[in-house]
This record gives sequence, structure tokens and C-alpha cells, in this order.
Amino acid sequence: MPTPFKALAELCEKLENMTKRIPMVSLVADFLKSLETDDVEPAVSMILGRALPKQNQQTLEVSWATLSEIIRRITGVDWELFIKAFSQTGDVGSAAKMIFENSKLKRQAPLFERVLTINEIRQGFEAIAQTAGYGSREKKERIIETLLSLASPIEAKYLVKIIIGEMRTGFHEGLMEQAVSKAFQVPLKDVQRASMVLGDIGTVAAIAKTEGREGLSKVGFKIFRPVKLMLAQMANDVAEALKEHGGRAAFEHKLDGARVQIHKQGENVKIFSRRLTDVTESLPEIAETVRKNVKAEEAILEGEVIAVDNEGNPIPFQHLMRRFKRVHAIEAIAETIPVNLYLFDILYLNGESLIMLPYLQRRQMLAENSGEIPLTKQIITNSVEEAEHFLKEATDSGHEGLIAKKLDSEYVPGIRGKRWLKIKPILEPLDLVIVAAEYGYGRRREWLSDYYLAARDAETGEFLIVGKTFKGLTDAEITEMTKHLKELAVKEEHRRIFVIPKIVVEVAYNEIQKSPKYKCGMALRFARITRIREDKTPEEADTIQRVREIYEKQFLKKGNISLRNSK
Ligand code: AMP
Repeated sequence: MPTPFKALAELCEKLENMTKRIPMVSLVADFLKSLETDDVEPAVSMILGRALPKQNQQTLEVSWATLSEIIRRITGVDWELFIKAFSQTGDVGSAAKMIFENSKLKRQAPLFERVLTINEIRQGFEAIAQTAGYGSREKKERIIETLLSLASPIEAKYLVKIIIGEMRTGFHEGLMEQAVSKAFQVPLKDVQRASMVLGDIGTVAAIAKTEGREGLSKVGFKIFRPVKLMLAQMANDVAEALKEHGGRAAFEHKLDGARVQIHKQGENVKIFSRRLTDVTESLPEIAETVRKNVKAEEAILEGEVIAVDNEGNPIPFQHLMRRFKRVHAIEAIAETIPVNLYLFDILYLNGESLIMLPYLQRRQMLAENSGEIPLTKQIITNSVEEAEHFLKEATDSGHEGLIAKKLDSEYVPGIRGKRWLKIKPILEPLDLVIVAAEYGYGRRREWLSDYYLAARDAETGEFLIVGKTFKGLTDAEITEMTKHLKELAVKEEHRRIFVIPKIVVEVAYNEIQKSPKYKCGMALRFARITRIREDKTPEEADTIQRVREIYEKQFLKKGNISLRNSK
């Protein structure tokens, strides 16, 4: 029997109220066991807050402005009630539930109860994602309206959360892997391996149910299906990195550009961004370079694309992001913003996965297969002085810093581990999320130009404000930002609006101070936005724990007391 969506919504609400991981995993495992095969992948995706499978390149593109308009229309409830509910819960889903409960009293009972199924909702999401072109907004609205008007309050809550991508039950992908392992009685490490390769635990769960361990072991790389990226942790300096890597390591220039994963099969080349979306059309000359230089029939390569000036010197990252946004008139922009590709890894070559090979060997194979395409500049050393000198050379040439790579390390997809360590010379800027904004004054009266910046609490998922700034963006960026923030607005208060945490910005500052102004007890001094991180999701932003760590280190250096001890 197709599973009712209500069962999934009830499960999520239970998870939201639980804190212990083992019972959460058991609960989800039991739920997965009860599902029909066709419902497994959609259910896993939805529990994790995804409308569509992760590797699907499409998105729903439904703004909160649109969604809230539909909710208002269906419920006919005074919107003040929503605002009140939102203030109480801080969550759009829970606020939606409250107003659905309230409006149920007023709405006519349907002639017969129609049960919404998981399958039906997935079909609705697919239809929304596929809608494009003239009249698409109306079509999308109609589909959402149909789904929501059949929804009970608890279903409305989770429909809204999934559409907006704000699940926040605390049940993350790692726990889902455990639940899949438990539900279908397959070893956890087989689930994790398949999940790394496929980049989608939903699909892995479906394979685990139908084909078991044997099916999972057959999962391999497929050209044109992006592999989750290996990421780097932070190290304070080169000495720390050397120590962590056993006294000897490779150091590469850390280029300040955009990560790309390039798939090649014959003459076909596809380029994926850091978020694993297909950006081939934005970078035609990079695709051509790869076609020309990489002789292998099949390969998956990784590197960094940087924007350069006429002399080939690196120029700021913002210029590059314009290239990713503009798909039209590419050629004109390609002329004004030239880009260069530097390769630094190879994951797959002619039918063979290389990710289990040590870094040194992969780098060697990369050199043999990259033709004339340059590799990131690299040294291998056990000397702190030599590494420091190399760091200075990198920053003097306009690069961000270094990445230390452990010589014998595998490529581990999707993991931010210590095998790669990034080293930046200055006070590390923070990636923060805008949670509210205020209209400016004078010339900026009509613009939301003053931003509240928040860091995520890794333990609770809550976004905590750490500072406020009106500095750093150009007029054009502020106009764009104002438009974007209005679409995300959930509450308006005098000249201030509160928004769904979606936009990530990189913020430079001079110091972190102890401050009673914000709930977290800290505040950034002289914060300024250095760029908009369109490539990062709020989940990837810096955590409040990281802010506290930097704060404490600052004081350690000054021989002062720490925030935690002083509380
Ligand atoms: P971050 O975005 O601060 O976590 O830093 C990691 C990013 O640095 C990677 O995702 C790459 O986009 C970028 N990067 C630049 N140069 C290199 C390199 N030589 N090796 C690996 N990543 C690099």
C-alpha cells in the first residue's frame, strides 16, 4: 500500500522532540522497513528535508514569498496570527501548522477525506521542478495549492519545511546511514561506501532494500554523475599541519576561486560546481581546454577555476561568481573575465576508481593525464621554514594560502577531514548567515542595507547572531540583496525584517568581543562583508562553536580569561 505522507510527518515530529540518537535511528529504521520499495528513496530524501533526490540537478525554485501567499489564500487566516506563531516557534513549518489548525475550524470539512501519499507529493515536487517558461509561476502555485489544500496541519508543516528546505529535526545524513543499515540489515560501512560514491543516501537505501549487501557492493563511479567533494579542515599554521601529517606533507597553493569537478568521456565534458550543479555552459573555454589536453577516454578530475587579469594574475573571487550566474552572453563575459583552470586531483581514469590510492600516486597520475593544463603549485617538505616561505610566496602572488595534503591519504568524498588542512595567514574570515536586515538611512532609505549576521549552533541547529554590518557591498549588490531578502522575509517590524536563513556571506572583522548584546555572548568588531558565498549553504556556514574557538584563542594569546570560564 502506498504510504500516507501523514506517517512521515508524524515521524518527523517525533524526531524533532527527541535528542538521543540511538532511539532516533531505531524509529527511522522501523519506518523505512514498513515502506513499499517505490517509497523508500522519496521518504529518505524527505526526512532529510529534500524535495528531490540529492543528485537531481533540478530545484523547486519556490520562494517563501510565493508559498506564504498560497498559505494565506488557502487558510484565509489573519496573517498577524502567522507572525505571532512564527515569533513563538521561530520556525515557518510550525507557524504554518498553527494557522492550519486555526483555519480548520473555519474551513468546510471536505466531502470525503483524501489521503495524501508520499508518492503523490514526490510527483507534485517533480512537476514543480519541471515547470519552466511562460506561466510557470502560476502552474507551480496551482500544484502547491492542491497539495496544501489536501493537507492536515501536521502535513502542511512538513510540506512547507521540505519546500523551503528547512527540516531541522536533528536527523542528519550520518544517522540516516545508520537507519538504512539497521532497517535492511546491511553493514554500515557498505552503506557509507555506497553513499560516498553515489552521493545520495536515498538511492542507496532503495538499493539496500531491493538488492541488499551485494547490490551495494556493485555501486561504482559513473561518468557525469558528480561525486561528493573531499573538503579541508582548518589548521592554524604550517607547523600544526606538518605535525598532524606526521612530520612530512605536501603543501599546495590554495587558490581563491571556485572548485570544479570535471567529467570527461570521449569528446563530452561536463563541469560541476562545489554544490555539484552542472556549470558547463558557464565555462565553455574550460571544457574546451579539457577536451584538448586530457587524452584519456574517461576521467574525473578536480581543480580550481580562478579569475585572472590580462597579465594572468589572480583577481577577486566576486568576478568569477558573475561567470557562474551568467549563462547568457557568455562569450562577451569570457572576454572581459578570463578564467584559468588549475588541477589538483584525479578520482577516476578509464573505468577505474582511483580514490583509494594515496595522494602522491594520484598526483603522479594527474600529472601524466593533464596535458598542458597546469597543476596547483606544490612542494613536499618536512621543514617548517620551507613551508612558511612557500606560504608567503602564495600570498604574495595573490593566493589565499596553502592546503597541506597528507602524503598517503585517500580521496574521501563528502568528508571534511584532517587529511587536507587549509592554512590562511590572517585572522580567518567567517562564513555567516543573514537572519535579519534593516532599511538604511538617507540614500539607502529604500534598501535593506544593514545586515544581522549569524553563526549556526552545531548542537541545536539554531542560528545565533554574532554581529551586524552595513559595510562591504556595492550599491548594485545591495539592490540585489534587498530583492532577495524580501523574498525570504517571514516577519516585519518597523524598519527591520526577519528572514529565513539562506544567504551566506564571508565576513572579515578585527576582533571578537565578549558582549551581552547578543544571546551567544559574543560580537564581531568592525565586521564587513567581503563576499557573498553563493556556493555555500547555511549548513556549511561557520558554527558558533568555531566563533567561540577563535574568541578563546584570541584571549589565550593575550593571556586573558576565556569566555566560557568567565561566565
Ligand atoms: P574552504 O572553501 O575555505 O573550505 O577551502 C577549501 C576549498 O579550497 C576547496 O573546496 C577548493 O575549492 C579550494 N582550493 C584551492 N586550492 C586548492 C588546492 N590546491 N587543493 C584543494 N582545494 C583547493
